[in-house]
Amino acid sequence: MRKNTNTFLNLLQKIDAEGGINTCWPYTGYKTLNGYGHIRCGNRKTIKAHRWAYEYFYGKAPERFQVLHLCDNRLCCNPTHLKLGTHAENMKDMKDKGRKKSLCYETIKELRRQGLTHKAIAEQLNCSPHTVQQILKNQIFTLLE
Ligand SMILES: [Zn+2]
Repeated sequence: MRKNTNTFLNLLQKIDAEGGINTCWPYTGYKTLNGYGHIRCGNRKTIKAHRWAYEYFYGKAPERFQVLHLCDNRLCCNPTHLKLGTHAENMKDMKDKGRKKSLCYETIKELRRQGLTHKAIAEQLNCSPHTVQQILKNQIFTLLE
């Protein structure tokens, strides 16, 4: 049990929650090649950081479920950006997102960094420039319906 507690504390220290509840909380520790945060939890086993975060905030997730990101940010450990789903749902989600883009503050910030205007970003993400502005201003995370 002691070991488990330490792992939790370790993980919590490595989550960057500075931005508050409405932003992504990136895991700053060890990252795998496919972009997920990984933590070691004894017995030489590793577990995805966001799964640990989910279980920390919501309780144990059944093995057959995956912890999915609503925000598409694989490093994100913000519990409000996480949900449980099956593998099939995950695949379907990814397909849906090809058509229906999620709007994350991080995504928009990145597009701004690339020099795109609010209008250009809005066109690319299929939403109004006002929404883009709101997301940038409040650093909120929204999913487009
Ligand atoms: Zn997130």
